[in-house]
Amino acid sequence: MSNLITGALTEISRRAMIRGVAIAGSAPFLAMSVNYAAAQAAPQLPPLPRGAKYTQAQVAYQDYPLGGQQCSQCIQFIKPRSCRTVEGIISPNGWCRGWTNVKHL
Ligand code: SF4
Repeated sequence: MSNLITGALTEISRRAMIRGVAIAGSAPFLAMSVNYAAAQAAPQLPPLPRGAKYTQAQVAYQDYPLGGQQCSQCIQFIKPRSCRTVEGIISPNGWCRGWTNVKHL
C-alpha cells in the first residue's frame, strides 16, 4: 500500500473515531434533556396527606443529577440519605420532579 493510501485511510479512521466519540459523549446529555422535558411536562403531583411521602416512582426519582440539579441542593433533602417528601433511601446526587433549590427560598 502506498503512503498516500495509508495516509488517507488513517485520516478517515481518525475522523470516524472523533465522530464516534462525539456522538457517544453526547448521548447522556441527550437522555438528560429528554428526561428533563418529560419531567417538565408531567402532571402536577397530588397533594400529600400530613406526614405522608411520595413513592420514588410518583416523583420520577433517579439516583443521578439532572441538568445540574441534585438532592443535596434541594430544600427537602435530609443528610445523609433521606428526604422530607419522598420515601426510601435518597442519594445526595439524586433528583426528582419535586426538586426545589435551597437557594431560591
Ligand atoms: S430532589 Fe428534593 S424532593 Fe426530590 S428526592 Fe431529592 S431531596 Fe427529595
